[in-house]
Amino acid sequence: MAKQYTEDLISGLKKDLRDKEEQDDNAVERIKNGFIRFKTCKFDKYPELFQELAEGQHPKFLVFACSDSRVSPSHVLDFQPGEAFMVRNIANLVPPFDQLRYTGVGAAIEYAVSSLQVENILVIGHSRCGGIERLMSFPENGSAPFDFIDDWMKIALPAKLKIKAEHSCLSSEEQNALCEREAVNLSLVNLLSYPYVRKAVADQTLVLRGGYYDFVEGSFELWQLNTELSPPIIIP
Ligand SMILES: [Zn+2]
Repeated sequence: MAKQYTEDLISGLKKDLRDKEEQDDNAVERIKNGFIRFKTCKFDKYPELFQELAEGQHPKFLVFACSDSRVSPSHVLDFQPGEAFMVRNIANLVPPFDQLRYTGVGAAIEYAVSSLQVENILVIGHSRCGGIERLMSFPENGSAPFDFIDDWMKIALPAKLKIKAEHSCLSSEEQNALCEREAVNLSLVNLLSYPYVRKAVADQTLVLRGGYYDFVEGSFELWQLNTELSPPIIIP
């Protein structure tokens, strides 16, 4: 009886291992095939572009986008190699200037603005953002905190408080959608706490832009920090 149990256990573990190896093979194949497609269709096809890029990068955009697998700016906005310096994190947030926290984000902003002298910073929010949904429901939903996510999402707390105060009669989905846009505006304001951003905006060499990609409707909204002066452009 015990022998049979051990044999079953071993054969089960062997099967798990085989399944895992198969998955690894699939992942390696996917990566290989993806690079071959890129090399054939882009790298080998446009040698001058890639030679130029090998000498240096001169992107006109610094882009903040969510880590969500559905919202890659390279696909949604068709950014080509060399066009956009990019930061992706949970809910596309820009924290306020702080040399002791979130230094990875600060380093990217400092380099993009001070060294690369990008002309635009574009923060892109999106529909059905899991980070915003978590922010809007925690801790009220009583679930246990995550190790990192809840602390990170506190950056957008002022956006949550504003939406909850002004739109309490709306459904949670509608509030989340408003908060997805409000968090972008908050990030644009937070960008101004970085001295080199503030200076470049004052010198009119840098424009701060908000964007919102709705992957349910298939639309994209674009606006500038001061929305009174520049009503949003909705594409299409
Ligand atoms: Zn998201």
